[in-house]
Formats: sequence, structure tokens, C-alpha cells
Amino acid sequence: MMPAENQETTQGRLRYNEPMAAHTSLKVGGPADIFYEPADADDLAEFLQSVSADTPITWFGRGSNLLVRDGGIDGAVVATNGVFQTLEQRADRQVYVGASVPCTSLARQCVRWELGPSEFLAGIPGSLGGALAMNAGAHGHETWERVQAVTTIHRDGTIRERSPDDYTVAYRHVSGPADEWFIGATLVFDEAATASMDELKAQQDRRRRTQPLGLASCGSVFRNPPNDHAARLIEAAGLKGCRIGDAEVSDKHANFIINRGDASALDIENLIRHVGHSVADRFDIELVPEVRIIGREAA
Ligand SMILES: Cc1cc2nc3c(=O)[nH]c(=O)nc-3n(C[C@H](O)[C@H](O)[C@H](O)COP(=O)(O)OP(=O)(O)OC[C@H]3O[C@@H](n4cnc5c(N)ncnc54)[C@H](O)[C@@H]3O)c2cc1C
Repeated sequence: MMPAENQETTQGRLRYNEPMAAHTSLKVGGPADIFYEPADADDLAEFLQSVSADTPITWFGRGSNLLVRDGGIDGAVVATNGVFQTLEQRADRQVYVGASVPCTSLARQCVRWELGPSEFLAGIPGSLGGALAMNAGAHGHETWERVQAVTTIHRDGTIRERSPDDYTVAYRHVSGPADEWFIGATLVFDEAATASMDELKAQQDRRRRTQPLGLASCGSVFRNPPNDHAARLIEAAGLKGCRIGDAEVSDKHANFIINRGDASALDIENLIRHVGHSVADRFDIELVPEVRIIGREAA
């Protein structure tokens, strides 16, 4: 664990026993032992070097794809929201984007620059860092299609530029060098594939009609199985509206689970399990969660 005196040597914000429910879009999650919001890259490097090798580190973007269990998170959570905010156009249709930039801001700025396709990012409520970690996508496009290079920080504080060849990238899954996290990326867009602000708005209106936006959720709970849709299978299994505690399978979009207000992480996890088992019993298809479930069970 980190020595207490580090609280004074770092410039960022250090908190102990920080409730993660305040930081996740599902509005659940017990306390992180340590919750650190760095001031900048140097400060982050200093913090990472100060954390003992046996302390787990969990990276945190905007918390829109995380189900944190009620017992909280061991070790240190690093929350970089608001830290890596660079968003600038470079030569040859290249854009450098800091990991903290919201996907929605990136999409809108690309429209202003007349670069695309970026509209698929417009409705994703995460950060670029989270989108890189998840290979987030929509409407047939994925984040990594656009990646030319990523900038990372290692646990020892070293900052590197890496090529996509250093990563294995799949549908909503990315793996790469251990103990290294994204602080930015160089993306390449096309000039011929630009959307308009009206198209972005129309897409957002479509989401509002078909998804329970405004209620606590993590977006799609399960990945789509090959050649099918998780939402279709869940609905066909009669699970819309199914409830455990205050966790409910959305009536509007069957692949969303919403927290009606007082759900615990356990309610949500149990409902995820129930949905998975019901779909497997009925259709012999195993749904794989897209949401990342982390942390310890409540004592
Ligand atoms: C209403 C709603 C709609 C959604 N729609 C979509 C959609 O259309 N398509 C889609 O793909 N997703 C969608 N999502 C899910 C979510 O927004 C994406 O997965 C998003 O990319 C997560 O970004 P985040 O910053 O919130 O990451 P977090 O939830 O904070 O973290 C997700 C994972 O990424 C890791 N991570 C975060 N930042 C970094 C970093 N800088 N370096 C390394 N690892 C990091 C975390 O450790 C964690 O494992 C939706 C969610 C909601 C709530």
C-alpha cells in the first residue's frame, strides 16, 4: 500500500475509501481503498512510481462500462477524467486525442473539422481511454479502425508511443502490454466520410427513442453473439421488465439493465447471471458480458 506521506508529495487529489457509486453510470459500487486523480502526466508518473508493486491498480475513465461490486476495490483506482484533454488536428487527417476527452466531444470536433467517420462515437458516454480499452463502437464502426498510434504510461512512469501491432484487438476486447494504460492516441480519419451535426443529432434522437437514456445503466450489458443480437435473445426469452431488487431489464432495450434507484451491485450481477442462464436454457447460446465486473464482494 502507499505510504501516508505520499499524500503530501503528489499534486493530484488523493482520497481513501472513496465510494465508487459516485463515479459509475450504474450508480453502484463500494469504496476504493485509494482513489487518485492526477494533476498531469508528471504527477501521474510520480504517483505510479510511489505505489508498491503488490498494490493492484485499476484504471478508470468515465465509469460507463463498469459494474463495481459492493465491497469496493482493492488497492488504487486512478481516475484520469479531465486530465488528458488535448484534442488537436495534425497533418494528413490525423487527430491527437488525450485519453480523457469524451467520445462525444471528439465526434463533434471531427464534424467541425470535416473528418469522419466519427459519428459512431457521438452516443458513447465514455472517454477516449475507455473507448480504446473496450474497442468501443456502434453502427458498424469501432474505435481501433481509426488508431494510428497510442500513447501509454507504464507503472514505472515511462511514457511510450506504441503501434496497433502491439495490441490484440477484437469486438469489444483489447489486450496489450501489461501494467500500461492509455493517455492518448493519434487517430486518422477520412475527409470523404464526414457526418453533419444534423446527422449526429438524428442519431442521438434515435438512441433516446430506443435506449433508456437518463436512467442509470452501463449501456449494453452483453456483447452481441455472432450473427445475432443479445437484445433480441433477451426479449425473446421473455425477460424485459424482469427485476431483482431495484435492478431491472429495461422495457425499452432488453440488453440494458437499469438501476431504478436502490439497486446494489449484487442485484445487478444476479440479474446479469439470471439473464445469461435463461438465454442459455432457451436458445443454447452463451451471452458474454460486455460490462466489466470488478471489485470484491461485500463482507
Ligand atoms: C447509455 C450508454 C450507452 C452506451 N453505448 C455504447 C455504444 O454504443 N458502444 C459501446 O461500445 N459502448 C457503449 N457504452 C459503454 C461505454 O460507454 C463504453 O464501453 C466506453 O468506451 C467506456 O468508457 P469509459 O471512459 O466510461 O470507461 P470505464 O467504464 O471507466 O472503463 C472501462 C474499462 O476501460 C478501462 N480503461 C478506462 N480508461 C482507460 C485508459 N485510459 N487506459 C486503459 N484502460 C482504461 C477500465 O479499466 C475498464 O476496464 C454505453 C454506455 C452507456 C451508459
